[in-house]
Amino acid sequence: MWNLDQAYIDGAFVPVQGSERLEIVNPATEQAIGTVVLANRDDARRAIAAANRAQPGLTNSTKAQRIEMLRRLEAAVLARSDQIRDATIEEYGGPVARSQWVSNYASQCFATTARMLADYDFERRLGEATVVMEPIGVAGLIAPWNSTAGSICSKLASALAAGCASVVKPSELGPLQAHVVTEALHDAGLPAGVVNVLLGRGGDVGDEISTSPGIAKISFTGSTQTGKLIARAGLESMKRVSLALSGKSATVVLDDAHLATVLPMALNAAFMNNGQACVAGTRLLIPNALMAEAIERLQDLVAAIQVGDPRDAATAVGPLASKAQFERVQQFIRRGLAQGATLLAGGEGRPDGLDKGWFVRPTIFVDVRNDMDIAQKEIFGPVLSVIGYDDDDEAVEIANDSIYGLQAYVFSSQLQRARRVAFRLHAGTVLINRIAPELIAPFGGVRQSGIGREFGVFGMEAFLEPKTISVANSTAGLLGS
Ligand code: NAD
Repeated sequence: MWNLDQAYIDGAFVPVQGSERLEIVNPATEQAIGTVVLANRDDARRAIAAANRAQPGLTNSTKAQRIEMLRRLEAAVLARSDQIRDATIEEYGGPVARSQWVSNYASQCFATTARMLADYDFERRLGEATVVMEPIGVAGLIAPWNSTAGSICSKLASALAAGCASVVKPSELGPLQAHVVTEALHDAGLPAGVVNVLLGRGGDVGDEISTSPGIAKISFTGSTQTGKLIARAGLESMKRVSLALSGKSATVVLDDAHLATVLPMALNAAFMNNGQACVAGTRLLIPNALMAEAIERLQDLVAAIQVGDPRDAATAVGPLASKAQFERVQQFIRRGLAQGATLLAGGEGRPDGLDKGWFVRPTIFVDVRNDMDIAQKEIFGPVLSVIGYDDDDEAVEIANDSIYGLQAYVFSSQLQRARRVAFRLHAGTVLINRIAPELIAPFGGVRQSGIGREFGVFGMEAFLEPKTISVANSTAGLLGS
């Protein structure tokens, strides 16, 4: 049994001042696997103070020193990669392959950022001015429960590369994963206060970070609803805010696409991370002329998906992360039926043979109109809405008819045609004939999917502020001899 009751502040694990204790539950078995005591506002204030003490040292650090810190973090996180994978399986229900990817990704964030930093010039000339990119100051990094290790490491890598000390608040719903990652961060032996990590409620620790004058920048990943609260809270102290928010991505299959090849990818895009992915392609747009064939293929594909024990390498979809998630998804399935969509696969309840755990039946709806809730709202579970269209213009119109715009997918056998469609889609990223992201390219959303970009050079620049230094043309008479 895990008994977590510490925060990581000023280079040391210290007991939290908070007293709220939460049970940690394995979502595949519903068994308690431990408890965590949450930090409170006092803990957050101590963490913010420690980061502020570390900030001047980081502001003055050289590029080579930051690269060295990133390399140490990469090695330390890599050394605990098995533990990160196992915590992701046990606490979150991530299938083995996905959990392994998550833990590899966590160390890669530091490696790719170190490489990017080596080529980055913090000074440039514009006209007669010199523009210096300076660290904004102490950063609050607030992460969601559906990508604990990845969010922590990706945000931290960008902040550190820019020279910002951090106060990290992972989700209170991912304590075990956060704990294992924090131990790795500690192993890297960075100067005290450069990284501080504490778990706490959003309305408590999260709000303290969002309102504190000791925080200059917030990098938040989570729901659009919370992102709006954070943006408002940060305004008073004029914080710089990056928001990576919810999505309702469209997958556009053009009529020249080879269905046998692309539908397995489209289904993966919909159900990745057990359907709990901001980038999940949960609206599948199929030409009406190909609908009958697509339906037949989707039926076969979904029947072959193994749902169950996330420790089994053959499992593609594990449990949802919590009972609350399970109930939320059930409610959406009921709403889809009530609003007139037809079930092609799945539906309410657990899959056959599973009577424990927060398992959902991989669900596909057809006869979906884009104004139905299942097509407009982020469900955050393995529920796919298939929508028919007649021509490319209509496909683009449907795809763009959303308040969100995070990531879209286009499948086609003609690259130029796919690119033309990609240019017309309102999304921060469009993937053509692939579902894997490019991790050094900017990632983020348009519309209500967010503000700002993460990853690579754009991710780091979100933690930098340009300062212009311009010198008079002639200094005659101004300077001493
Ligand atoms: P959430 O918004 O409920 O919580 C995210 C984080 O914010 C948690 O750490 C939480 O404790 C904290 N928080 C909550 N209220 C707060 C407040 N008032 N002030 C400060 N912090 C507060 O989101 P979630 O349920 O943890 O995550 C799922 C959501 O995240 C989905 O909508 C998903 O699409 C989104 N997400 C987006 C991306 C992306 O890159 N765009 C990636 C992963 C997840």
